[in-house]
Amino acid sequence: MKIKKFTCNNCGAPKVNAYKSPYIICDYCGNFTDIDYTMSLQAWNSDPKRAEKYQKANLSFQGKLNELVIKKNKKDYYDLQIKYWDLYYRLYPEYLPPTINFDDTFYKQYLAICADSSTEAAFDPEYQKVVQKQYSLQSQVEYYTEKGETKVKGESFFRMINAYIDCLKEDFKKFYDKPEYSLMNKVFPYDANFKMKISTLVQIWLPYLNETDGKKFLKETGFSNDYINPPKVEGHISNCQHCKAELFIPENSLKVHCEACHKNNIIKSKFNCMGCGIENEIPEHPVNTIDCKACKLENRLITKMFG
Ligand SMILES: [Zn+2]
Ligand SMILES: [Zn+2]
Ligand SMILES: [Zn+2]
Repeated sequence: MKIKKFTCNNCGAPKVNAYKSPYIICDYCGNFTDIDYTMSLQAWNSDPKRAEKYQKANLSFQGKLNELVIKKNKKDYYDLQIKYWDLYYRLYPEYLPPTINFDDTFYKQYLAICADSSTEAAFDPEYQKVVQKQYSLQSQVEYYTEKGETKVKGESFFRMINAYIDCLKEDFKKFYDKPEYSLMNKVFPYDANFKMKISTLVQIWLPYLNETDGKKFLKETGFSNDYINPPKVEGHISNCQHCKAELFIPENSLKVHCEACHKNNIIKSKFNCMGCGIENEIPEHPVNTIDCKACKLENRLITKMFG
């Protein structure tokens, strides 16, 4: 099985384990910042019945939500949004950020953030102006037909998509700056969330682009198909601490994510300082180097072999 070429931006390690969801998680430090858009597309297309069920439900939700905006009923709008996001993630568990499980408290908090931000956006006239701008940009895209297929003209497409992405960046910045949404930095960091959004755009637009424009778009969005055979590294086979599924633990790993149950296996939670020998805790989000609490010496936890 080929996997997307990946270098962890936290510790520099490559990806060594195969994965089943669009989220790529480092096998050494548990950090996640990368998305495999083809995996995301596969999840979307794998089951037409599921897609049909979603589309039907979504249509009904959108109709009711629109009514509530007209009635200015913010409270019911929010409650309905919770139901919408719950349905969405239960139908497409692949898209739930891997740091969240259905049975933990993060899930409820995460749904509340999704619902709250959607509600604030729907009732904020300033935000609605942004949405209108995005619609008008999309309406300026020029189409043509080639061998019976609808395509978009490259120049008009890139003008639209670049403006759209700029809009998105501004939106994301505001979202992540909100203290009420601080949980997001922990469970779905900016980089990963933004890349997931862009991945959706790639999914939507790629079929409408000719080969040259398609390649350009993938390259510009960082989704070029750079697939490799998983690199061979030292390690051992073990069983997931939660679901007992077989799990490869690379040597020097601190945290390995189980693709079967979407839970983290803590491999190492303490280390002894190289300088003074005192025992230190490894933080929940380990970075490559950690300063000793006693002598302040910088300890390198994940070996330097990855650069
Ligand atoms: Zn890492
Ligand atoms: Zn597991
Ligand atoms: Zn020390």
